[in-house]
Amino acid sequence: MSSVRLFFALWPSPSLAASLAGWAEQARPTTGGRVMRTETLHLTLAFLGPVDAQLADTLAAATPGHQLPAGEVALDHYGVFSRQRILWAGPRQTPAGLQAAHDSLWQWLADFGLTAPPQPFRPHVTLLRNIEHAQPPDTTPAPLSWRYDRMVLVASESLTGGSRYRIVAQSRPAGGVAPALAQSPGCNDQGSP
Ligand code: ATP
Ligand code: MG
Repeated sequence: MSSVRLFFALWPSPSLAASLAGWAEQARPTTGGRVMRTETLHLTLAFLGPVDAQLADTLAAATPGHQLPAGEVALDHYGVFSRQRILWAGPRQTPAGLQAAHDSLWQWLADFGLTAPPQPFRPHVTLLRNIEHAQPPDTTPAPLSWRYDRMVLVASESLTGGSRYRIVAQSRPAGGVAPALAQSPGCNDQGSP
């Protein structure tokens, strides 16, 4: 049976994404690397990896009925995953509310036979890939406040030069009704390394 690579994520508003692109530009002279396209920036809540097409359809149908506990996270920190050669923006410490949102998402996913990875949740927005220097800049831009009330389910397709993301469902916003689907954000990479 065919499979689809899926993940759940917080998706920033265009203005927050533009601010995050500014963070990427500010870091690039220090670390080098390749800037992610602004419209693909996101914070992964749960990476499911490949799931069979039938389960993918089930999850897409169930997501609008699920509510993520709303909250706020301050992006106030540049971090590096040196093995993956990634520079990211994120909270210096994971807020309790975001950790709870992550945990409740995995609790819900257990109903579909999915289990959380053993690694701790490290909330981050990947800004640069293939960085050449693993030391982030000394100076961090002004913190960005991210209020969230929903998550999106994203299908990730491997292409040469990066992955293409397609938003396939959104959760019901806290206190709201099931939203219309956003436009597909396209490929994650911009230019060549
Ligand atoms: P590519 O792997 O093709 O370079 P990508 O990493 O953007 O592209 P995916 O591998 O599908 O695409 O990952 C989708 C999202 O999930 C990204 O935010 C990625 O950082 C995150 N992710 C991928 N693998 C894991 C993992 N094992 N644990 C946690 N998050 C992951
Ligand atoms: Mg990947």
